[in-house]
Amino acid sequence: MDHDCLFCRIVAGEIPATVVYETPTTLAFRDIDPKAAVHVLVIPKEHYADVVALSADPAASADLLATASSVAEGEGLTGDGFRLMFNTGRFAGQEVFHVHAHVLGGEPLGPMLALR
Ligand code: AMP
Repeated sequence: MDHDCLFCRIVAGEIPATVVYETPTTLAFRDIDPKAAVHVLVIPKEHYADVVALSADPAASADLLATASSVAEGEGLTGDGFRLMFNTGRFAGQEVFHVHAHVLGGEPLGPMLALR
């Protein structure tokens, strides 16, 4: 655990979160500032800074994807569809350097990028 990491502290129960799904290796909780009708963050309980670091651990990567799919099913998103997004680094505007997948849905999400 990284004591300076916000999401490690959520995993440790030091900071509250609205948890929607949990496995032995992953945690899913509602984004505090939702950008869509449904906005859930899915994280590995172990600390990896970003998706590049996570990809070095295939089992952890698979666990994260499986939890993201379970969240999408649990939130009723699989029929109309949803977006799964990893912001990575400065150009993508990554704010929290503990890898997290954004599960977004519950309404039409518009274009993939605001720039285009
Ligand atoms: P990113 O820009 O991809 O790093 O996304 C970080 C996300 O974490 C943002 O969507 C924030 O709204 C969200 N966030 C920040 N603090 C919290 C928190 N305490 N609980 C839940 N979500 C948070």
